[in-house]
Amino acid sequence: MSNTKYKAYTLQNFRKLPQIQQIPEEQKFSMEVVGHVFPLKSNNYVVEELINWDNVPGDPIFVLTFPQKEMLNFYHFEKMAAVLRKGSNKQEIQNASNKIRMELNPHPAGQIEQNVPSLNGQKLKGVQHKYSETVLFFPCQGQTCHAYCSFCFRWPQFVWSNDLKFAGKETEQLIEYVHNHPEITDILITGGDPLFMSTSNLATYVRALLNADTHNLSTIRIGTKVLGYWPYRFLTDSDADDLLALFKEVTRAGKHLAIMAHFNHPRELKTKAVKKAISRILETGAQIRTQSPLLANINDDPKIWSEMWNEQVNLGCIPYYMFLVRDTGAQHYFGISLVEAIDIYQKAYRNVSGLSRTVRGPIMSCTPGKVQILGTSEVYGEKVFVLQFLQGRNPDWVRRPFFAKYDEKAMWFDDLKPAFGESKFFFEKNIDDIKFSYRDSEKGLRKETFAFS
Ligand SMILES: *Cc1c(COP(=O)(O)O)cnc(C)c1O
Ligand code: SF4
Repeated sequence: MSNTKYKAYTLQNFRKLPQIQQIPEEQKFSMEVVGHVFPLKSNNYVVEELINWDNVPGDPIFVLTFPQKEMLNFYHFEKMAAVLRKGSNKQEIQNASNKIRMELNPHPAGQIEQNVPSLNGQKLKGVQHKYSETVLFFPCQGQTCHAYCSFCFRWPQFVWSNDLKFAGKETEQLIEYVHNHPEITDILITGGDPLFMSTSNLATYVRALLNADTHNLSTIRIGTKVLGYWPYRFLTDSDADDLLALFKEVTRAGKHLAIMAHFNHPRELKTKAVKKAISRILETGAQIRTQSPLLANINDDPKIWSEMWNEQVNLGCIPYYMFLVRDTGAQHYFGISLVEAIDIYQKAYRNVSGLSRTVRGPIMSCTPGKVQILGTSEVYGEKVFVLQFLQGRNPDWVRRPFFAKYDEKAMWFDDLKPAFGESKFFFEKNIDDIKFSYRDSEKGLRKETFAFS
């Protein structure tokens, strides 16, 4: 095991890394250019135990946390590069960065306003309630991560100030809200990464939930990438044992504790540290469910997925979701067409035992709901995509197969058109119930806030 004291590498100090110094200057400069637009954060575990430096620059874990030239289009890249080359001052650099960021479809104000519930006429900050059974909670100290994924659609919150962030301190209000909504069974604590928080901060929220008289609440979920990016959180961090004790407290209280773990590549499951961390978590009675987006240049190969799911099941985890990436930031670099995504999912799924087939995908999380692409088919000579909602703004939409015109180039839900010459999808017929139509709204309004982790 490497030095188990957490050390972050960012735009300010990444050049000092011995592994980075071996990279040609031109590439280092490219990383710096892109790092001025997208946030850069890696750490000593990722650098020393996950990245295979012999494979750099193509190494998937390298691509996962270090910015690549191709993540910006030519025009944006050259613009930022010119600003840096001519030795501009801080303000000039920042203006240039922000201008490019604004052109990359950053998460818009609308996202923060969407699905935010009210309590006694007041908006509940840091809370989101979209699907009836599950409410999302964004504790303010958990809105950052141990490393940043270069594909993350949350990048704007890492580079801009607090006013763009979800953040909630209002546990009391959250509890009252759960009380008033007996349909809620699950709370998903999410971020960023809520396990970036100290155990004592997390415990404040979790104990408040346990102590409250919310009988409807049966499950606490924690969405996290910490097993992939910093398993020492469960091993050698000074409050690691307290964290595990807190998990035990939850399960002893008769609540289900689900760790929603974000893994992108089988390599993240192979270190001694992660294996030990997983086994320590499972000993507390918590369960680990896994999810990941499908990403070009990182995991766009069925073998990678079947290996990842098999390994997860071997370690006692339950494969849960495979997501598609959305249209913000470097989507042109990471995006996969729906046709390719179906192929990768099906090939991977066919190669694993039933125990791994708990995984559902490929999924697009969008305004109307979580849409799963079941596959392609042909109906009376028309080639179609077959889709269904796994979650819908209206629960009646769930599990009702529907059809879209086959389109080889389609990459996201809004590229799709109804099949059979229809003008609308079935759920658009009562979309008026939903205040706005996602097709008419500004581009940004379609995006979702649910983190992969
Ligand atoms: C995915 C998601 C959930 C959880 O859905 P499950 O299908 O229960 O895992 C809850 N809220 C939002 C907004 C989501 O995107
Ligand atoms: S995908 Fe999750 S872990 Fe990765 S940077 Fe985004 S919020 Fe953090």
